Amino acid sequence: MAEDYYKVLGVDKNASQDEIKAKFRDLAKKYHPDVNQGNKESEEKFKEIAEAYEVLSDPNKKRQYDATGSATFNGPGGQSSNFSWDDFTHFDDINDIFSKIFGGNFGGSSGYYGGYSNQPDLEIYLRVNVTLQDVYYGGSKPIKYKRNAMCEACNGTGGVDGKMATCPTCHGSGQERIARGQGFFQMVTVTTCRTCNGRGKIPLKPCNSCKGTGTVPKMENITINIPKGADTNVKLRIAKMGNSFGGVTGDLFAVLFVQNNSDIKRSGDNLYVKTFIDFPTAALGGEIDVKLFRDDFKVNVPAGTQPDDIVRIKGAGMQRLNSRGSGDILVIVKLQVPKHLSAGEKELVEKLKGEQPKKSWFHI
Ligand SMILES: [Zn+2]
Ligand SMILES: [Zn+2]
Repeated sequence: MAEDYYKVLGVDKNASQDEIKAKFRDLAKKYHPDVNQGNKESEEKFKEIAEAYEVLSDPNKKRQYDATGSATFNGPGGQSSNFSWDDFTHFDDINDIFSKIFGGNFGGSSGYYGGYSNQPDLEIYLRVNVTLQDVYYGGSKPIKYKRNAMCEACNGTGGVDGKMATCPTCHGSGQERIARGQGFFQMVTVTTCRTCNGRGKIPLKPCNSCKGTGTVPKMENITINIPKGADTNVKLRIAKMGNSFGGVTGDLFAVLFVQNNSDIKRSGDNLYVKTFIDFPTAALGGEIDVKLFRDDFKVNVPAGTQPDDIVRIKGAGMQRLNSRGSGDILVIVKLQVPKHLSAGEKELVEKLKGEQPKKSWFHI
């Protein structure tokens, strides 16, 4: 059974979308992992909040949740899903969920009209998949995404020649009062003016290029620099490449997601690789070749090396992102036993068997 999402957000069942959103922002600010580094409890709390908000902010999911008391998208048995990166994949537009959860007020660049709950999200958080090789060598990576860019024809004002008039709905305050109910039970909510989106002004004559919105959708093709040693969740800030609104442009955050590699495992700054050696090399010791991405390392294994022994190549692992130096490569040695022997080889092995001391070399 899923948690009571209303309790999690501290709102009642009749709360408006604005109240839900405001409450979520308050809680998210308080429990956001960035301000509670390493605090497991607040991380868990943040996940709960995000999950509750995901349901209650979506009218369809909310209706389903209200009717059944659970949200079937959580998987079999109505178990609440663990909030993870993979959960994001079922959203059509990754930007959308990121804007929903992280966007808006707490990124810092809220713009001159800041403080209203309905303001469009200026920051864009974009998940960028990279390989282990990408972060091992670092380098540039092209990315493509869509944003609302400032309309150049009107400088983002939305008005021809930038000419603006006072908003007739809010008379320039940017806020609108909406009354619900009657008499004693009347409730007045102050919300962002829907006519001017909180700007207090509207274009005198709407700009032709952007139809008065001040922004135009634009596909961007840009190149980002992947720092050596970066790991999943590292955020790269690209200034002024987010969404525009009212002449202000937010930032783009590329959030890295390092994909698993089937041959090489990462543990912090260390990299584990497997390599196969033959019996003579294991018994007598010798130089072996270890491949890692584009590099080839020559490593000496000592005489008497056992299967699964680890040989360390110091300083050849992942570069440390925030300090100097690099981790190590840890080579896991596997023993390769030939499936077919030539007559000559067979004779040699037979001879070796005959020469065995009482205690077996092979630990049968
Ligand atoms: Zn325009
Ligand atoms: Zn207005």
